[in-house]
Amino acid sequence: MKIAFVGLGNMGAPMAHALLKTGHSLTVYDQSQRAVQLLVDAGAKAVSSPGAAVRGAEYVVTMLPGAGHVRSVLTGPDGILANVSPGVTIIDSSTIDPASVKEFASLAATQGNPFVDAPVSGGTGGAAAGTLTFMVGAASATFAEVTSVLEAMGKNIVHCGDVGTGQIAKICNNLVLGITMGGVSEAMSLGAALGIDPRILSGILNTSTGRSWSSDTYNPYPGVIQSAPASKGYAGGFRTDLMLKDLGLASESARAVGQPVFMGALAQQLYQTSSANGCGRLDFSAVIKLYRRPEETTAR
Ligand code: NAD
Repeated sequence: MKIAFVGLGNMGAPMAHALLKTGHSLTVYDQSQRAVQLLVDAGAKAVSSPGAAVRGAEYVVTMLPGAGHVRSVLTGPDGILANVSPGVTIIDSSTIDPASVKEFASLAATQGNPFVDAPVSGGTGGAAAGTLTFMVGAASATFAEVTSVLEAMGKNIVHCGDVGTGQIAKICNNLVLGITMGGVSEAMSLGAALGIDPRILSGILNTSTGRSWSSDTYNPYPGVIQSAPASKGYAGGFRTDLMLKDLGLASESARAVGQPVFMGALAQQLYQTSSANGCGRLDFSAVIKLYRRPEETTAR
């Protein structure tokens, strides 16, 4: 298939690589030349605008930070909607609010393009391994049509319902993720302060009722899991400011339906503080730094 891919960041780059590896032909666009060059080196064709990327494409995939970025590549100068062929499906894998998804879907529908929200879970490791979970909001026929493209990048492709429901699932998942990372950070820091080896504590959590993805795959304590951002200075991964965005999406969605999110509100304040302390561009597991004592900050 000829696929246009827009947004080659921490997630988009490995997803685009996965599409290339499964034999798709890729035309890519990103504001960052460096990001584009890495894909060109792997066999993709580079162009200088989102519109140029989608000309002649059979599918379009976008993977951008937030709704404003998606809007700009869809409707901005030399954008996707002005250049995509009628009938071509646009798959947005960014995490954004369900209301924006519905607006983008109706804009695309006026010119005959199905629009699918397909946010992902699994982190940069899952993207690199091609094992992401896709939460898909689409009409049934469109879901059936995009499955083969998504299977090149993920292993669980779930139809959540109509357009917008993929984002509902994603927002709820990241509400849990933000809360569990705060909880694991608190417990790991307490254990270390009380004198247990963090690796032993982590092993206990992971074979006990405290286990979660935040403890067994992405533990925030440095040196416990070598592949986790915590063991690489919190570089790469899922930026604190993106987690903050997602907890904002949860609280705004909750307000719209009058639903309380007690733990989510507290988690939002944790990541807000972490961001204000200079960790906004670090992986969200850097939230553990809020629990460190001054003497540990220099030691680690
Ligand atoms: P990122 O910041 O690493 O990458 C975003 C990319 O978009 C960058 O390369 C940037 O240059 C590009 N970009 C921004 N505006 C653009 C524009 N107008 N035109 C073209 N390119 C533009 O972000 P990420 O970590 O890859 O996350 C992308 C989305 O996926 C976000 O919505 C995030 O919430 C979600 N997500 C991230 C993770 C993760 O672990 N990082 C996991 C699941 C979901």
